[in-house]
Amino acid sequence: MFDTLQDRLNSAFKSLRGKGRLTEADIDATCREIRIALLEADVNLSVVKEFVGAVKHRARGTELSGALNPSQQIIKIVDEELVAILGGETRTIRFAKKPPTVIMLAGLQGAGKTTLAGKLGRWLREQGHSPLLVAADLQRPNAVNQLQVVGERAGVHVFAPEPGVTTAGGADQPTGDPVLVARRAMYHAQQKLYDVVVVDTAGRLGVDEELMRQAAAIKAEVRPQETLFVVDAMIGQDAVNTARAFAEGVGFDGVVLTKLDGDARGGAALSIAKVTGRPIMFASNGEQLTDFDVFHPDRMASRILGMGDVLTLIEQAERTFDAEQSAKAAAKLQSKGGSDFGLADFLQQMQMVRKMGPLSKIFGMLPGMGEMKDQIANIDEREVDRIEAIIQSMTPAERDDPKILNGSRRARIARGSGVEVSDVNNLVNRFMEARKVMSQLAGGSMPGMPPVPGL
Ligand code: GDP
Repeated sequence: MFDTLQDRLNSAFKSLRGKGRLTEADIDATCREIRIALLEADVNLSVVKEFVGAVKHRARGTELSGALNPSQQIIKIVDEELVAILGGETRTIRFAKKPPTVIMLAGLQGAGKTTLAGKLGRWLREQGHSPLLVAADLQRPNAVNQLQVVGERAGVHVFAPEPGVTTAGGADQPTGDPVLVARRAMYHAQQKLYDVVVVDTAGRLGVDEELMRQAAAIKAEVRPQETLFVVDAMIGQDAVNTARAFAEGVGFDGVVLTKLDGDARGGAALSIAKVTGRPIMFASNGEQLTDFDVFHPDRMASRILGMGDVLTLIEQAERTFDAEQSAKAAAKLQSKGGSDFGLADFLQQMQMVRKMGPLSKIFGMLPGMGEMKDQIANIDEREVDRIEAIIQSMTPAERDDPKILNGSRRARIARGSGVEVSDVNNLVNRFMEARKVMSQLAGGSMPGMPPVPGL
């Protein structure tokens, strides 16, 4: 999402490389470029002014530090200022002392509230909570049903009004008063000991009074610990205007940015925390339930600056990696010159990595990859699919010991996986080579190198 901004900022910093000290003119020129970069990315004008003013002020005031060269100094300042406009500290849900904790979602139609309810439900469940999702969006045809589907996928219960009278639109949509639904849901949650209640509310295509009135009425009924304003990061400056309207009409405690996987410029979303004075608490970056994370201003800032997002990667890895499996694979590599590590283990490890998402996305999060973006975009997932298909066409014995792969076996595997025999040969040769190298690393022939399970 922030590719262009990243490119522009990097080129602003590049002109400082190799400079021994920062002159007034250097600072001015760099700040001009930063200003253009932010404006082009659609960051709100008043936010840009304040941001650039702060960077300039601090850059002028910095004494030459022994540790950092001028371009590093500026990067550090820009990084810190970015963290500040994104809200500073990471902030997550404040749970009520006396359950249930109520989280209410508000925002325009299509912002991603219902999808978010499922993601939040899954996330809360993972943290050991027992959440209840409440369908208080009785406006949009099918919204209740959509929440039920999402809840089922997330493994979380949904409180929904009984399907009711058919609406004028013809859809089988429950009619009724969302405030009443919310009240019943709260009673239900208390009876059944759910400790978190996530209330999905109706949105409209645009900001209107009725929408605000309804959201405010639901809010008054359920008295949420957290009202989250959900906003589509792709809608540009409208995001800022909508945020202002919701801040006035309903009031909210935190922001959730959705659709950060889109290719819009996204700068408007970066302005929201600053403009509303409310922190961004979560970010959604895809349609799957797992495409969701706590928002960390510091990590987002370093991602924008192209420093990678190693922490996010580590967390994702922790979530998807099976530690036991990885430890077993590492142990196999460490003993007997790695000969116990077969193609089945390789396949398992590869699939674990792929569970984290498309390879290009994973590599994109590694530091220093900013300048290799084109190559990363060209990573051919089909090549990886082909490797999987080849290994899957092998018998267990062949996977355990690729040495038994003679000509006729290779021909059979090639037919089975729809590739040429040379592809099979290639894979086997590369695997044998890689296993040798990995087992040398894992076996301690290079002291100080820990094994890297899975990668
Ligand atoms: P609601 O009207 O606010 O409840 O919005 P929905 O949850 O129904 O989402 C609207 C559309 O956006 C759906 O098609 C979702 O699949 C999609 N969507 C939601 N969040 C994301 C996201 O983070 N990334 C992408 N690409 N699509 C999303």
